Amino acid sequence: METAKVKLPITNEHGFYEIRLESIGGLGANLSGKILGELGAIYLGLNSSSFASYGSEKRGTPVKAFVRWADPSQEIRINSPVETPHLLGLFHERLAGKIPVMQGVGPDTIVVVNTDEDPDVIRDRLKMHAGTLVCVDALRLAIEAKTRVNMIMLGAMAKASGFIPVEDLKELVKDTLGKKYPAALQANLEGIDKGYNNIVVKKYEDDGKYPYQEYSEVKREWGYDNAPIGGINPHYGSTINNDLSGSREGYIPVFKKEACINCGMCDSTCPDMVYQFVPGEYKGKPSMINLGPDYHHCKGCLRCVEACPTDALTAGLEREVDIWKNHVRNQELLVDKMEFEDVGPNSWMRSESYTTNELR
Ligand code: SF4
Ligand code: SF4
Repeated sequence: METAKVKLPITNEHGFYEIRLESIGGLGANLSGKILGELGAIYLGLNSSSFASYGSEKRGTPVKAFVRWADPSQEIRINSPVETPHLLGLFHERLAGKIPVMQGVGPDTIVVVNTDEDPDVIRDRLKMHAGTLVCVDALRLAIEAKTRVNMIMLGAMAKASGFIPVEDLKELVKDTLGKKYPAALQANLEGIDKGYNNIVVKKYEDDGKYPYQEYSEVKREWGYDNAPIGGINPHYGSTINNDLSGSREGYIPVFKKEACINCGMCDSTCPDMVYQFVPGEYKGKPSMINLGPDYHHCKGCLRCVEACPTDALTAGLEREVDIWKNHVRNQELLVDKMEFEDVGPNSWMRSESYTTNELR
């Protein structure tokens, strides 16, 4: 029988080492789950399975990815969500409090969080019962390495796990992503190294501060049969409740009006019609003038920054930028005030908010 290259440090009653990744669309958690699944099966000689759950496949919406590893002698025959992870990757710290990401986290769990805060601050924010907390500033490191957050997180998780060989991880990235996107390979490998070498670790015992959170499926009242026409966005970090935190990726395009030549490239590129243009005059000729971004609709993908031919748009970290300095009201919405039935997992917005012009 084939023997595994690594020894799993801990397993559950089924003989599985289990990983759960919690993220929002656009940070690459789905791809990270696939990479870890492949790493286990092909590079580490383990039995391995992985799958993800990501709703509408839209950037900014919640994503979960699950990975199971087992010794080659142990078959994996289940495909249910990972309820009590040994390794939990939190790709966006603002997910805490929006969705129950800490369910099933106990003394044996290693939690790797994308944050610039210290473990003690993050433990309180996550209300973490017990376990090992690993902090890595993946947003900043990703900007430095010119890579994506997922490469930093993979490097950090490899180090935090104590047994995932970083060289095998890099070999896999070379063999897969490297072939598909050769121009980005060096940055991706640098990102893995940066994540591997920049973690802050602290272990917490069960000191009674926060209770253990059991895993449970979130049941929603609205579904295929009864959701209002036009759809609903049931998550806290979203446009409808004006929460500018959890629905984006942590990056923000910063607009410098004096450098803008009103070329419209940002508007053509942006998938969410964030830029607000009005008729006006530019260099003495009639032109559409860019007023700037309506950040309520921005998820921080930074495509506009890549497209801008001047330095009118630059990449910033959302936590450091005064968003309201640049924020522009959406010119197409008829009213600013939106009406909510409620704010919470089953909330929805009255569509009449869009059809009255009484406040205009
Ligand atoms: S980062 Fe730019 S392209 Fe992406 S959603 Fe925001 S404004 Fe649009
Ligand atoms: S792409 Fe840059 S220069 Fe062109 S309109 Fe947008 S912000 Fe202005």
